[in-house]
Amino acid sequence: MAVSAVPWGPDFGELARQDPELAGIITGELERVRGSLQLIAAENYTSRAVLAALASPLANKYAEGYPGARHHGGCELVDVAERVAQSRATALFGASHANVQPHSGSSAVLAAYAALLRPGDTVLAMALPHGGHLTHGSPANFSGRWFHFIGYGVDPATGLLDYDRLRELALAHRPKAIVCGSISYPRHLDYAAFRTIADEVGAYLVADAAHPIGLVAGKAAPNPVPYADVVCATTHKVLRGPRGGMLLCGAELAERVDRAVFPFTQGGAQMHTVAAKAVAFGEAATPAFATYARQVVANARTLADGLAAAGLTVATGGTDTHMITVDVSPLGLDGRAAKARCAAAGIILDTCALASATEPGGCVRGLRLGTAAVTTQGMEEGEMERIGALLTIALREDEEAPRTRGVRAEVRELAAAFPPYPP
Ligand SMILES: *Cc1c(COP(=O)(O)O)cnc(C)c1O
Repeated sequence: MAVSAVPWGPDFGELARQDPELAGIITGELERVRGSLQLIAAENYTSRAVLAALASPLANKYAEGYPGARHHGGCELVDVAERVAQSRATALFGASHANVQPHSGSSAVLAAYAALLRPGDTVLAMALPHGGHLTHGSPANFSGRWFHFIGYGVDPATGLLDYDRLRELALAHRPKAIVCGSISYPRHLDYAAFRTIADEVGAYLVADAAHPIGLVAGKAAPNPVPYADVVCATTHKVLRGPRGGMLLCGAELAERVDRAVFPFTQGGAQMHTVAAKAVAFGEAATPAFATYARQVVANARTLADGLAAAGLTVATGGTDTHMITVDVSPLGLDGRAAKARCAAAGIILDTCALASATEPGGCVRGLRLGTAAVTTQGMEEGEMERIGALLTIALREDEEAPRTRGVRAEVRELAAAFPPYPP
């Protein structure tokens, strides 16, 4: 069946006629991203093919269970979709088993813990002020409530992960699991070192590769799969798929991991999202995606160099990935004020905690930037130099300053030259 137009009928015009309020919000959001720069390290723009799978009738299908073993009838075709997603994921990452059902990265981590741990177990993970995720032991999250987390971290002087201290903590606390992965660490992780330490204390190694998994797919970052017992990931960050999560593991843990997702922590799978994940895995296996992943890193390096040359304090001195963290305290700013200045100039980014620069009051002094989205838009090193220069001006000017208005206009012009979802 050759189809060019969407075969099931609905189009955006239909939404606009039926519900102009929501249609207006959606088109307004597209205008927003077309008129500003998204440097949020966790964001990206999916392909139109991924969006097409998301907006498909698979959204209607109930499919509790796994292919060939569903509670609901009529799953013949979605079973095939899920098997395709699984086999593309295992091939892409060299894993024996993939579970493509987690609704988000956090759901994947929850399931990994459910597969390996009992409530009250001790877990060693990156401390939150050093770049750990909420699911790595935050008291506001299930993880901090149900497990006993010990935090490891970076050397405050260098910003680099302190593997000696990590080993000491592992020997002292004998955790049931060690989690490696971070929301803001811009360097590659030494998965072999983590594995050695985990083996020394008989701990499981859980890699939360939510951020770098897209770089892994593009062969631009080391792969945790050969080292970790379970790898948790998102599919929507550098990987450029639909919003969702994924788990990878060896054959021996496959059943436990599957049961930890369904029925332990989730109900029916979102089959439109599973299909969209399959589409994204297919895209990520292409040479074009490897080129993209390399460009993401080259862009981040160029941007980091530009910021450092302009006198900003780039944590760890640079980056290996798509991510850059900057300490804004030498500018006399905290993260929140710095983020607001950037936003006034149309540069959208996040604050982050920096171990070397967190005030006792919990005031965050870091900014986190990423290049995944702007690279998808087609920007390269020249544009990164320009963004670095614009960002540096924006950080040094008041939100209302005339120079900020000038930067805002330049940002708009740059963004307009590389529109996401070009008309
Ligand atoms: C993004 C992220 C997650 C969570 O992903 P969600 O889809 O937002 O739940 C978990 N762990 C790490 C390290 C992340 O960066």
